[in-house]
Amino acid sequence: MQGPRPVVLSGPSGAGKSTLLKKLLKEYENVFGFSVSHTTRKPRPGEVNGKALPVPSKGAVQAIQAQNQICVLDIDIQGVKNIKRTELNPIYISVQPPSLDVLEKRLRERQTETEESLRKRLTAACVDLELSKEPGLFDLVIINDDLEKAYSELKEILLEEIKKAQESSKS
Ligand code: ADP
Repeated sequence: MQGPRPVVLSGPSGAGKSTLLKKLLKEYENVFGFSVSHTTRKPRPGEVNGKALPVPSKGAVQAIQAQNQICVLDIDIQGVKNIKRTELNPIYISVQPPSLDVLEKRLRERQTETEESLRKRLTAACVDLELSKEPGLFDLVIINDDLEKAYSELKEILLEEIKKAQESSKS
């Protein structure tokens, strides 16, 4: 399969995936594509394990790739394991908070949560962080403490694919 490799962005809700992605989309126009309706809306309270993002089909991902765009997959750890069984060969990135306390603070400040959904998200985050330790599961774990530092780590690992997408949009 030609075209830039897809990228998987995983990690607990509130870790900063949307924030980082928004920065990428702002800096790089037409480089990234989405296979599912990746909305920028805030997750709704209670939308914790009732996953909003189904794992996209292989064909849907490859269609983005065929347009020479980097397909972004924002999926949970189970989704990561499913993708691993395909031949999509994405770059696997986990975005993680510096600590659960910081995660809780950020989720509270985001003002998208009820007490109940907050509690669920924190429990899910614990599980996610634990499962993420599996060796080899991710190519890169980004600890999103300082946003600019996290962003530059993300850009660095994507640089080669970004270049591919930019090259192809020139021709
Ligand atoms: P996710 O998409 O992973 O659920 P968000 O991008 O919505 O997470 O981030 C959760 C909250 O944390 C948002 O309110 C965001 O503005 C804030 N945030 C993200 N990264 C940082 C950071 N490095 N420092 C402080 N706040 C952050």
